[in-house]
Amino acid sequence: MSYKLTLKRLPNFLRYVNKVYRFSQTINSMQSKGDPETSSQTIFMSVFLCMLLRLGSLRQLAADSKAGRIRKFVPRIDKETYCANTVANGLENIDTDILQQELAVVPKKLRRNKAYGSAEHPGTIGGLRIVAIDGTEHFRSECVHCPECMAVHVTTKEGVKVHYVHRMVIMYVVGRLHSSAVQVILGGEPALPKDALEEGGESPEHEGESTAAKRLIVKMITLYGNRFFDILTTDAYYSNKPFVLFLDSLGKYLVSRVKREDTTLYQEIDVLSQMVEPIHIDDREERVESWVYEIPELQASLDWDVPTRGFRILEKTYKIASGEKVYIKEETFLCMTTVPVELADANTVRQIVHAKWGVENKDNWYMEHNFHHHPNATYALLLILFMAHNLFYAYVFRHMKSYRLYHPTMKRIAEDFLASFLHWKWRMSWLHFDGT
Ligand SMILES: [Zn+2]
Repeated sequence: MSYKLTLKRLPNFLRYVNKVYRFSQTINSMQSKGDPETSSQTIFMSVFLCMLLRLGSLRQLAADSKAGRIRKFVPRIDKETYCANTVANGLENIDTDILQQELAVVPKKLRRNKAYGSAEHPGTIGGLRIVAIDGTEHFRSECVHCPECMAVHVTTKEGVKVHYVHRMVIMYVVGRLHSSAVQVILGGEPALPKDALEEGGESPEHEGESTAAKRLIVKMITLYGNRFFDILTTDAYYSNKPFVLFLDSLGKYLVSRVKREDTTLYQEIDVLSQMVEPIHIDDREERVESWVYEIPELQASLDWDVPTRGFRILEKTYKIASGEKVYIKEETFLCMTTVPVELADANTVRQIVHAKWGVENKDNWYMEHNFHHHPNATYALLLILFMAHNLFYAYVFRHMKSYRLYHPTMKRIAEDFLASFLHWKWRMSWLHFDGT
């Protein structure tokens, strides 16, 4: 037996997410701030399918809606006005607060079901609840832009050019994962041009990011509750005093890389780590040997009041060939944490640093770069993308029997979704949501 394509894939998916994650309620909750030509439910569902099926662009959505395929899956048909343009325009007014609330349905339910962060699903490291934040970039364009675009200066052969992008800080759950644990995206917050001004000219790739990150963290705690995470892990950009103090005021800890050589933090770790003896760890499961130089109580020399530890870590990745260890890669990096040693020893910190994942390249959640530029539309589109992402993996990891049996690739499953969409002949019965 091997993995077989089923044309019922998409209806099956919709039935499952409706039953377990009350998806029809999500659809029904959609609202528009204006008076859209097409209903908010139809706008949402069209874009959701576009994301889930990785159609890649609204042009493709237009073609599919013309062919009548999308209509089979939208709850009601706005006959006169339904087309890709009215969907794109509708996104300009769709209520993003509702989208963010509905995005929280999957993470909350998984947490209630202890689908991560528990002993049987060790999605946490050292029993700690960990989330990551990351700045991501979307819809890069040289000509199309809108009031909330960030201007990025790019050096090319023809001189310096301005590119327009949307930057978004997103938060997601990380950990050492059980195969049935879903790495959900918790939420996102756009970084705005005015954030960059407030920060006073940070490095271009991070314009306004930490202001947006702070807004996001506060929003996420309000939405998910204060106990939803203990530790935040980030890239090196956030290992600075204002951010550490901000997290500390919320009772949260930071684990972060340290990269900027011109900072006291970097220099202190660099110098002091040469005076301590490393601890040696052989992680046989991951096949990584490491030497960790730990510096306690860094805060005194940093002039910040939050207890901070610094680390220099040397890691050697190896393989086993004829019973012998053969080193294949070597890396040294610095990192820091405000987590007390009683909660996380050096090895736990080392694992947390590795826990981040690259969101943008994961399983081809591709999007056309010059999609309809509009502040509300781009934000709405990304929130809907995150919903599709969460529900897709929840379905694959927690429901799809043929995945557990045959482990097809995510690409293969995504192709099945599309085939099912293209060939499904009937209109989904929205009343029973059972695909008949
Ligand atoms: Zn824009």
